[in-house]
Amino acid sequence: MKVYDWRDVPDGDFAILGDPVGHSLSPRMHSAAYQFLELDLMYRAVRVPVGEVVPALEALRDLGYLGVNITVPHKEAAFEWCEHVEKGTWRFGAVNTIRLENRAGVNTDVPGFLKVLADQGIEPGARIMFLGAGGSARSLIAACSDAGFEIGAWNRTRERLEKMVGELGVKVDILESADVQGFQAIINATSASLGEVDLPIVWRQSAMGGFAFDLAYGPEPSPFLKWAKANGWLTSDGLPMLVEQGALGFEWWLGKEAPREAMLRSVGL
Ligand code: NAP
Repeated sequence: MKVYDWRDVPDGDFAILGDPVGHSLSPRMHSAAYQFLELDLMYRAVRVPVGEVVPALEALRDLGYLGVNITVPHKEAAFEWCEHVEKGTWRFGAVNTIRLENRAGVNTDVPGFLKVLADQGIEPGARIMFLGAGGSARSLIAACSDAGFEIGAWNRTRERLEKMVGELGVKVDILESADVQGFQAIINATSASLGEVDLPIVWRQSAMGGFAFDLAYGPEPSPFLKWAKANGWLTSDGLPMLVEQGALGFEWWLGKEAPREAMLRSVGL
C-alpha cells in the first residue's frame, strides 16, 4: 500500500495517520471490509511526522476525508484536537479514531485490547504488567485499573510513567525493572518492536499459561515475543487487537456492522 506525505495526499474517504505508518495493516483491513460490503470507499496510509498532526488533520478534513485512524506517535495530540470526545474516552487522553467534520474522537483501542484479555481468560483481579508510558499504555492502564486488574508498570523514562500515573490517579506499582515474576500477563505497549529493539526484561519461565502480548505486529515475531515464547509464555502480536479496534471504528464511522471475518482474513488470522 502506497504511503503518502500528508502535504501531497490525494482525496479519499478514510486514512491512517502516523510515523512510521508503512507497516500498518489498517489500509488492507479496511479496504477488505469495503470490498466485502461493496462500498465505494478509499482508505489511505499517510505519513505525519511528530508535531504535524494538527495541520494534517485539518488538511484531510478540507480534502473531504470523513475519518482517520491515529497511530504512533499522535494519539495524545489528536485527542487535544478533538472538540467532541465520546463518553468513556475522556479519561484515556488519547484517541485512535476521529470523525473529521465535527472533530469527534473515540478510543477503540481500549475495548479491542480488553477483548484480547477476555479471550485469553484473563479476568479483573489478575496481576498484569505494562511496558511503556505512551498514548496506548496510558489508555490501557486507565481502563485496566478501572476494570479492577492489579497493575505493575515499567517505562524506559521512569519520570514519564510517574507523571502519567499521577495524572490518571490510578493505583499502579511503578517497577524499577521489568521483572515478570508474579505477573499473569505482560503487555508490551512500547513502540520498541517497530525498531526491533530488545527491551531490558527479566524473563522467567511462565508459571501456568502466562500471556505475553505485544501491541505491535510485523512479518516476524518481535524480540519481545521470541523471548516470551522461549520462556514458556503464550504469545500474541497486536493483530487481534488491530482487527477489533478497526471493526469498532468502522461501525462508529459508518453505522454498519463490520465484516469481522473478512477483516481477520485480510490480515492473515
Ligand atoms: P507512543 O505514544 O509513541 O509511546 C511509545 C512508548 O514506547 C514510550 O513509552 C517509549 O518510552 C517507549 N519506547 C519507544 N522506543 C523504546 C525503546 N527503544 N526502548 C524502550 N522503550 C521504548 O506509542 P503508542 O501510540 O503508545 O504505541 C505503542 C505501540 O503500540 C506501537 O508499537 C503501536 O504500533 C502499537 N499499537 C498497536 C495497536 C493495535 O491495534 N495492535 C493499537 C495501538 C498501538 P519513553 O517514554 O522512554 O520514550
